[in-house]
Amino acid sequence: MQQVCAHGHEQRGPLDYFDDGQCRHCDRRNQARYRTRRSAAMELARALEAHGVEVMRAEPPVDLQRLAEALAGSYKATA
Ligand SMILES: [Zn+2]
Repeated sequence: MQQVCAHGHEQRGPLDYFDDGQCRHCDRRNQARYRTRRSAAMELARALEAHGVEVMRAEPPVDLQRLAEALAGSYKATA
């Protein structure tokens, strides 16, 4: 019987899953997504700083949630 992970990857042997049963293909995909999002976050932070918007400040801390709301409210993605 062929096993398949929750995302449809075939689980044939140790090349497909870790010792704890986690799918290696899902892990690779998740790691790639994480790197892409981290890279996008850094690019956004640098762009904000170039516009004079602080994203790092200890006291008082930057309210990133409020900053994100303000940005999202005025931004329309072009799809
Ligand atoms: Zn998977």
